[in-house]
This record gives sequence, C-alpha cells and structure tokens, in this order.
Amino acid sequence: MIKTNFHTHTTFCDGKHSAEEMVLSAIEKGFTALGFSGHSQIKNSFWSMTEEKEIGYYKEINRLKDKYADKLEIFCGIEQDMVSPPFMFNYDYVIGSKHRIKFNGEYYGIDSNREDVKRYINEFFGGSFEKYAKNYYEDLVNVVEVTKADIIGHVDILTKYIEVDNIVLTDEYYEYAEKAVKQLTLAKKPFEINTGAIGRGYRTTPYPDKKLLKIIYENGGSIMINSDCHDKDKLDCGYDLAQSIAKEIGFNKRAIITKSGIKLIYL
Ligand SMILES: [Zn+2]
Ligand SMILES: [Zn+2]
Repeated sequence: MIKTNFHTHTTFCDGKHSAEEMVLSAIEKGFTALGFSGHSQIKNSFWSMTEEKEIGYYKEINRLKDKYADKLEIFCGIEQDMVSPPFMFNYDYVIGSKHRIKFNGEYYGIDSNREDVKRYINEFFGGSFEKYAKNYYEDLVNVVEVTKADIIGHVDILTKYIEVDNIVLTDEYYEYAEKAVKQLTLAKKPFEINTGAIGRGYRTTPYPDKKLLKIIYENGGSIMINSDCHDKDKLDCGYDLAQSIAKEIGFNKRAIITKSGIKLIYL
C-alpha cells in the first residue's frame, strides 16, 4: 500500500509532536505524502489553534514543504470544525469535521472527554444514545457546505467510546446515521476512513463503521484512508485493517491529495 496521510496534528494544536518530527517519521516509515490538518480555531477549546498558532502553523508547514521537497510531498490543510470562523489562509485542502453538539444554544465537545460525553447523553438526552445521535447527524448533513470541505472527516465520531462503554448501536441509531451519510454522498467528496481512535486505544475498528461504509459505497461515494495522527509513532496505525475493510465493502480505489487536486488510486 502506498502510504499517505492527510489528517495530521502537531503541537500547533493538540498533537504530541512537532510538524518536523511528524515529517521525519513519515519519511522513515516510507510515506510518499503527508498532509497536515491543524484544528481550526474554536473559542475556549484547548485542542484547537489560536489565531497566533494558525499563523505559525501555516508558516512552518510551508517551510517544511521546501526543506523536504525531495523526500516527501507535504501539504498544508486544515481540519475545519463546523463552529469555527473562516480559516485565515489559502489551504491546500480542507477536512470538514464536527466535534461539538449544540444543546440549548450551547456547544459541547463530543470526542475529547469520555466522562463528559456520558454526562451530556444523560443530562440532555435522557440517557438516549439515539436522541444524541439524532442531534448530531441532523447538523452534520451541512458539514460540506459550512466548512467548505474537500474531505469529510470521521462522520460517526460520536461512536468513539461505544466499545469501551458497551453501547450497542440500534436500528434507530442507524436510521439517523444512514440518512445523513446518504445525503452527504451527494456532495461528491471523499469520506475518510479514520483510524485515529484505534491509535488512541478506544476502538478496534476505524470510523465509519461497516454499515455506513456500505451506504457510502452503494451511493457512489469515495473514501480516503487517514490516521488522524496526533503521535509520530501512529502515522500508519490501523492502515492494513482499514484497507481490508474497504476492500471487503467493495471499494477498489481510495482518494489521495496530489499537487493537482484529489485523485483516486487503487487500494
Ligand atoms: Zn477531528
Ligand atoms: Zn483530527
């Protein structure tokens, strides 16, 4: 498998390693391309970039592009959240993601603290994972339009903790999830198969789950394999599994970023 990753975090947001350390790790692991996707600005968030960080990020990734031009194709993208202000630079690509739910006019993070998520489900949705999912997916359908996404990030990230919390996904859950995913296929943007939660020890399988991947496949959607990497040692974590699941569903190609835009290559 030609190794690429277009979902990479660094110390400019909540990553563990510097951008240059990520580049060196990618070269060592034989990657052909590495795309950075710093978290877009979000107020009162410990894991996103500030305005100052975003300026530093853009400058540093462009410095690395030149410095390592003969060893690795480097791209400077952004992971744009649905609640962020417009990004500051002309990025190579945009991953559109939703990390927060809105309840009674307030926003709550859904992937950075497992105990908080449990509390939100209980307090706001009467303990119903389905009602929580409905709230999430009804807004997610707008992710491409709102973020100007080129790639749709981790569509079912709200299932991040289901394995460790023993939550079983019901037919009602899939009703909301499948409806949103089907609608998103109309945007003709690749959906990422995201192995990030495997690297962090929360899941044994990537997002989206097989049922949602099937909906993407049946509706003519495409996929991209990314590790949503926050740690230089996890750059290709779960890639073999992601590739075999994609093939099992029926996909024979995956999307990658190139200097001339997004292109499909064989899996
Ligand atoms: Zn994300
Ligand atoms: Zn991310």
